[in-house]
Amino acid sequence: MRDITKPVKEGGYSGWEDVGGLDDIQNSIKEIIELPSKFPNTFIQSPLRMRSNVLLYGPPGCGKTHIVGAAAAACSLRFISVKGPELLNKYIGASEQAVRDIFSKAAAAAPCLLFFDEFDSIAPKRGHDNTGVTDRVSQSKLDGVEVLTGVFVFAATSRPDLLDAALLRPGRLDRLLFCDFPSRRERLDILAVLSRKLPFADDVNLDAIAHMTEGLSGADLQALLSDAQLEAVHNFLDSENGSNQGKMPVITDALLKSIASNAK
Ligand code: ATP
Repeated sequence: MRDITKPVKEGGYSGWEDVGGLDDIQNSIKEIIELPSKFPNTFIQSPLRMRSNVLLYGPPGCGKTHIVGAAAAACSLRFISVKGPELLNKYIGASEQAVRDIFSKAAAAAPCLLFFDEFDSIAPKRGHDNTGVTDRVSQSKLDGVEVLTGVFVFAATSRPDLLDAALLRPGRLDRLLFCDFPSRRERLDILAVLSRKLPFADDVNLDAIAHMTEGLSGADLQALLSDAQLEAVHNFLDSENGSNQGKMPVITDALLKSIASNAK
């Protein structure tokens, strides 16, 4: 489990500039986190509890984990990230204790963002786990979420159909945000964000690559760019004429297009 005393920006996220597309989700998260973070006293005194606990759901690789890390960095919140399976322990009581410990750490680290990734593994529908571990954790898990001050609880799953519906009632994970496959415009945004530091040739046309990659997730686009980078290095090392002296491997439009056309 990550050390919660580490400032979030060490986790590699800078802020919203790390995220391509997902505009509606960014806006919802801003509304949920930014105002209460900037004006905590106003929100603490407000008679109605704000809905600040979020479930992100959608296909794998579509940016659920990524946007939460970027949000924490953008809002300068400490980031406590736990993968659901890390909390499971076959010994009676150990998993429940691990969950209680996480909430205590989050309360002590407030203001912070507590994130449960792969949430379905610890919160399945009742009776769907024959070891009983997840059922016990599920029952204890979100007790206390309603009273935590300065802790934004986020969870993510690619299998919302497996979740215990009791966890989605008001006061628990009561904001549901859907991360879908990116549109063409979003793929262009994601490619631009992920390639900021890549050595592109002048002829690279990311719009054409976005057009060619319908159906790919952000994670697929990340893999495409990594493959292009590796291929560019190979090409560079393979070239025999010695003219590479003092130059760097460059990713050309033709190389990107050839990888994109095989990526589906
Ligand atoms: P899973 O359900 O498998 O956990 P996920 O939806 O949480 O998937 P992420 O881990 O957030 O997916 O995305 C994987 C990688 O894809 C990220 O680390 C990032 O490099 C890239 N990525 C995905 N979506 C975006 C996006 N909208 N903007 C920038 N990068 C993205």
